[in-house]
Amino acid sequence: MKRVLLLHTGGTLGMSARRPSALQPDTYAHEILSRVPELAALAEVSTRILCNLDSSDVGPDEWTALADEVAAARADHDGVVIIHGTDTMAYTASALSFALGGLDRPVVLTGSQRPLGEIRSDARRNLVDSVDLATRDIPEVGVCFDGRLLRGSRATKGDAWSYTAFASPNCLPLARLGLDVEIAPHVRRPQPDQPFAVDGRFDTRVAVCFVTPGMDPRMLERLGAGEADTGARGVVLAAFGVGNVPSRLRSVAAAVRRLTDGGVTVGVVTQAHAGAVDLSLYQNGVGLRDAGALSGGDMGVEAAVAKLMHGLGCFPEDAAARAEYFTRDVAGERGDGQLHIPD
Ligand code: ASP
Repeated sequence: MKRVLLLHTGGTLGMSARRPSALQPDTYAHEILSRVPELAALAEVSTRILCNLDSSDVGPDEWTALADEVAAARADHDGVVIIHGTDTMAYTASALSFALGGLDRPVVLTGSQRPLGEIRSDARRNLVDSVDLATRDIPEVGVCFDGRLLRGSRATKGDAWSYTAFASPNCLPLARLGLDVEIAPHVRRPQPDQPFAVDGRFDTRVAVCFVTPGMDPRMLERLGAGEADTGARGVVLAAFGVGNVPSRLRSVAAAVRRLTDGGVTVGVVTQAHAGAVDLSLYQNGVGLRDAGALSGGDMGVEAAVAKLMHGLGCFPEDAAARAEYFTRDVAGERGDGQLHIPD
């Protein structure tokens, strides 16, 4: 029988169902195996509680710890399931995709919209599906929710009030769990020349700027300002359409130029829910490119943020290496021929 490690980090799945008080982390994590006994029919499951947090409080420290836990678990587990709050699950999944190079077994993040202890909870199904997937030949970081496994570096929380909480607009699901478990052909395989390696260095000094009509570019510029360690070293610019920004009255590109001249790495993603950045299509995007901004291609915000943090952590003194890293496909997070395929 396959061996699966169930790593608990917190989230709604294990929260207290006592209403009307606000949901908060509870002790369910200790009881998951006895509350969902069918997991034992799928795998030899061991559990470990890494932390018990609302995922709004999960960040780069926990990403690093999780990457190390997965690396250690490889010695005696065939797959890992991470129980995690839905709010920042896509960030953690992206971060782990970058931190776990040459991954050779499944790492499945899951959670639920209703606590395990509540009636009609989605927790049981998501847990069973995730443990099942963790026994299979899917060597990727994925997000399992509502009967689908999405690539971790492509997932986004698309609905705060539905059991179909996650979407993956630019990449088809890696697996679908209906009557049968269907695994898609685009599941990535580790390259023979890329042995497993963990690198959980993240620099948290990354900000996101969502461009708005008429915005004052000085607000963007100020993100990079500040005493020694307080300014952003990386900025993800969520631009209009394929990567356009205002230029007629007040030039956003000029502000970007001042940021990049100051050593800040600026990556551009689209505000649209699907599709890719192309900084050569419109003059308003060409200006950004000429100012030193990097195209994020069809990466989502979560992947771009985690990748920029990882790039800054791994290449703190080397802007060219960061740029190369940001613009290349590392973990299936950008342009792999799966563009615009309806979900
Ligand atoms: N606030 C919760 C969390 O992300 C939401 C959830 O788990 O669905 O931890």
